Amino acid sequence: MNQNPKWAGVHDLMAEAAWRARANAWAPYSGFKVGCALLTSDGSIIAGCNVENASYGLTQCAERCAVCAAVANGHHALTDAVVVTDQLDPAPPCGACRQVLFEFGANMNVWLLGSNGVKKYHRIADLLPHAFKFTPNNGPH
Ligand SMILES: [Zn+2]
Repeated sequence: MNQNPKWAGVHDLMAEAAWRARANAWAPYSGFKVGCALLTSDGSIIAGCNVENASYGLTQCAERCAVCAAVANGHHALTDAVVVTDQLDPAPPCGACRQVLFEFGANMNVWLLGSNGVKKYHRIADLLPHAFKFTPNNGPH
């Protein structure tokens, strides 16, 4: 049986980074601001926030913004994510973000924080069972 990892000091730092990023979120349409901080395999913390768009469909979630920032800075192995919102019940990543997080951390630990300090923990593989994995054999013959 797997044991859940413990919340550690690095997660406090990640939460601070996620809350700072959340403060910069661009959410004039929904008012729903989200921050995300990622921990890379070398110990770096990379944050992102949601960026809404008047066309709605072009909106980017905080998780995907953080992943893009991490990749742009040369980080391709992510171990943990901390996602913060001001909801009482912490919000999990949407389906698209689950697939994107999985791409760079198939064993990623995902921590969700709400406004009252409630923390929820999930493994990315539990949030996205049967994630899509491209292999040459997946395509048409
Ligand atoms: Zn999302």
